Amino acid sequence: MRIDEMITAIQTELGIGVDGKAGPETWGAIYRKICKPANTKVIATAVTDLVDSRSEKIISTLLPEVQSYARALVHKAAANAITIKVISGLRTYDEQNALYAQGRTAPGNKVTNARGGYSNHNFGIAFDIGVFDGSKYLGDSPKYKAVGILGTEIGLEWGGNWKTIVDQPHYQLRPAWATNLTERDMLSELRSRRESGKAVYA
Ligand SMILES: [Zn+2]
Repeated sequence: MRIDEMITAIQTELGIGVDGKAGPETWGAIYRKICKPANTKVIATAVTDLVDSRSEKIISTLLPEVQSYARALVHKAAANAITIKVISGLRTYDEQNALYAQGRTAPGNKVTNARGGYSNHNFGIAFDIGVFDGSKYLGDSPKYKAVGILGTEIGLEWGGNWKTIVDQPHYQLRPAWATNLTERDMLSELRSRRESGKAVYA
């Protein structure tokens, strides 16, 4: 059996895109299948220690499970002398569509490749942070990487680890049922849960 045939067989088995080449999506699926990274188990009790009010306003839009992780990340960054704030959380489908239009049918630069229902932000499981120097927002700082490591330590998925669209401010909490799913399949399940009224973390 040739290597590309093995990869094709593995991709078929994992239920991901089949192209016979082991890229980031394939490796991600293999990693999740074999290493079974812990996620929702990392934070056992709710983190109710409030952070700054700007962040709390955004955190309140997230699902309760994710709120704890967002607070934990802000606290952990602070313990490492890094000031971060949660600056973006839940977006409705309409808000996502408006963002998607930017740089396409509306003025501005393209900021997302996701239409309404195709972003984890539409389900309250994702948030973006900003690094601050005092009250000054830093759009570009090596501290984003440092925070990314802290985030993955507590069980969050970090957008800085994505290979296709690197998104260093982005974090999300993968539901346990999505452990072996690709991003695309997870989003498809999230949309159908939304339609049927089923809870995201059930
Ligand atoms: Zn994001």
